[in-house]
Formats: sequence, C-alpha cells, structure tokens
Amino acid sequence: MPDCYFCCTELRWSSDFAFDDCGIEGDGIVATFSCPECGATAEFTSKITDEDEDVNKYTDDETVD
Ligand SMILES: [Zn+2]
Repeated sequence: MPDCYFCCTELRWSSDFAFDDCGIEGDGIVATFSCPECGATAEFTSKITDEDEDVNKYTDDETVD
C-alpha cells in the first residue's frame, strides 16, 4: 500500500471503480485510498490498454503496405 503524502502513514484501500463509473472516457481503473491518521484521500488511475487492438493495428499496417 502507498504511504500518505501528508503524514507518511500507510494508506488504507477504499475501493476500485471503472472509468465508466467516474465519468472518465476510455477503459481503466480508479483505485481510492484513505489515510487512517489524517483523513486524507488519494486516487490512483490506471488505463487499461487493449493488446488485441494493437495486434489489429499491426495487421492493418501490413495490408496497407
Ligand atoms: Zn495522512
């Protein structure tokens, strides 16, 4: 678990949300944390990249050539 930016206490995980749930475009995860010591909250966002899409792009490029 990450440490609190303000007091360096280990943050407690609260919950995970999909980008959709937070009104963010694209696919990804928003993880929320809270500090048990000072009450600060933190959010970490991570985009999910679709590897299948990348494979399709490569095959498209080859057919164009
Ligand atoms: Zn704190």
